[in-house]
Amino acid sequence: MTATVIDGVAIARDIRAQWRTRADALGRRGVTPWLAVVLVGENPASRVYVRNKMKACAENGVRCELHEFPADASEQAVLARILALAADPNVHGILVQLPLPPHFRNAKVLDAIPIDKDVDGFNRYNLGGLVVGETAFLPCTPYGVMSMLDYLQMPIEGRNAVVIGRSNIVGKPIALMLLARSATVSICTSKTRNLSQYTLLADILIVATGKPRLVTGPMVKEGAAVIDVGINRLADGKLVGDVDFDSVKERAGWITPVPGGVGPMTITMLLANTIQAAERYAEKHAPVSA
Ligand code: NDP
Repeated sequence: MTATVIDGVAIARDIRAQWRTRADALGRRGVTPWLAVVLVGENPASRVYVRNKMKACAENGVRCELHEFPADASEQAVLARILALAADPNVHGILVQLPLPPHFRNAKVLDAIPIDKDVDGFNRYNLGGLVVGETAFLPCTPYGVMSMLDYLQMPIEGRNAVVIGRSNIVGKPIALMLLARSATVSICTSKTRNLSQYTLLADILIVATGKPRLVTGPMVKEGAAVIDVGINRLADGKLVGDVDFDSVKERAGWITPVPGGVGPMTITMLLANTIQAAERYAEKHAPVSA
């Protein structure tokens, strides 16, 4: 079997167009969705991610404002800015680009973002809310993966789903979302013995490890949907995922490429969350009709 390659760019384009329509409708009501991005330090990868997010916002009717701090900025200064943004009624979403410099406490900073402006879905209320199915916003990469599966009308209920990776921002939220949709979910980590024993059972295999080409063809069930979240830069500059695309595509039914798979979906869901935050704001502050 040769897998169908999932075109994340095309799916993202389609979903963005739907959200753009909603942003335009808000604009006609005098509300421009507004995202504030807080960036601390000079991490080159973070700068690229922020630039891409700002570009996507500009193209989709979302105003994006960058709040930059030097690497030696105090946690207090950044917290003060977040509190000011939290109080600003024009700002609908606040995103703190990770990683923060080592002298910052991630949880302290992320929890300073009010729940209804936490469009990255990373504060502890929104992450913890996944356990009980109550969140204001879903974290963007897991939300992007689920949106991609839904866009393709991939059956989830009753299927075996295996998630490799248990980070708070990718692996665990994806596993909880799949569980909420009644998949039978296994989570594998670096301590899992005999990874193939699990992956070979997967109808849906999600890989989020940061280990280039960890998953190879013989580890994959014939016909499975393989979603590669990983983004790894090799020594020769090539960008690859956590899945060995060439061997896995000969066994899988569906496969995402890297780049051009999950990546574009992550930013799409950031736009979706920001526009939704603005819609909720507009709804709450709509003039009461007589
Ligand atoms: P983390 O480093 O936080 O987590 C990696 C996870 O993978 C850990 O749970 C780790 O296990 C597990 N792992 C590592 N090696 C193995 C192994 N050999 N076998 C099984 N499990 C293993 O990474 P993130 O979750 O933040 O990111 C994962 C990847 O996704 C990265 O490549 C990142 O760049 C990419 N990413 C892509 C995004 C996108 O938009 N496409 C967005 C966010 C991330 P343990 O817990 O035991 O250490």
